[in-house]
Amino acid sequence: MNEDSALVLFSGGQDSTTCLAWALARFSRVETVGFDYGQRHSVELDCRAAVRQSLASGFADWAQRLGPDHVLDLRFIRALGQSAMTEAIQIEMQNNALPNTFVPGRNLLFFTAAAALAYRRGLKRLVGGMCETDYSGYPDCRDDTLKALQATLNLGMESRLVVETPLMWIDKAETWTLARDLGGNALVELIKHKTHTCYVGDRENLHAWGYGCGACPACELRANGYKVFTAMA
Ligand code: ZN
Repeated sequence: MNEDSALVLFSGGQDSTTCLAWALARFSRVETVGFDYGQRHSVELDCRAAVRQSLASGFADWAQRLGPDHVLDLRFIRALGQSAMTEAIQIEMQNNALPNTFVPGRNLLFFTAAAALAYRRGLKRLVGGMCETDYSGYPDCRDDTLKALQATLNLGMESRLVVETPLMWIDKAETWTLARDLGGNALVELIKHKTHTCYVGDRENLHAWGYGCGACPACELRANGYKVFTAMA
């Protein structure tokens, strides 16, 4: 296993793109993995190649470090039940105080699949954009959940993987700031134009903070974070 290597859970959104830049700035060998879990729209997955390409063409140091991309088929997740992420249903709160965009087990399955891939590829670190600071309350984004999962994965695979979550304790405005610190305004612009966050898959409407419907919870978070970020700048 190469100590100086990472596998980034890369969806093509703002958070995972910032995580990819974070990993490229630190580790000499970086690969990416994406998951097809039957999401409602393939916009995010479609953005992945363009983001990787832009990172490679815009940042020469990072181009040398960026290794292969992997896409894993986890479409059985859709068969496990309805959520607003996989079905065209209204986004709303459930009785358990979680929004129905919550896909039970999703991040646990993502990390388990990523860990198996990292094991095969000899990659030491698993990097994910999970965040406890201004999130939707998903229990599988919690720091404790992911630390426990790291221990479980290492026990179950006799390995020494490290789960890295660089966004865990920062908010959306600070995520924009982190991007600027890593790659300057060029990276901020790349994230704005090439990444996708909107839950309903809107790539028509361009705002100051990027493309999206402007109304769904993901757009609201992204827009508010950008507003605070530009006010600080
Ligand atoms: Zn939206």
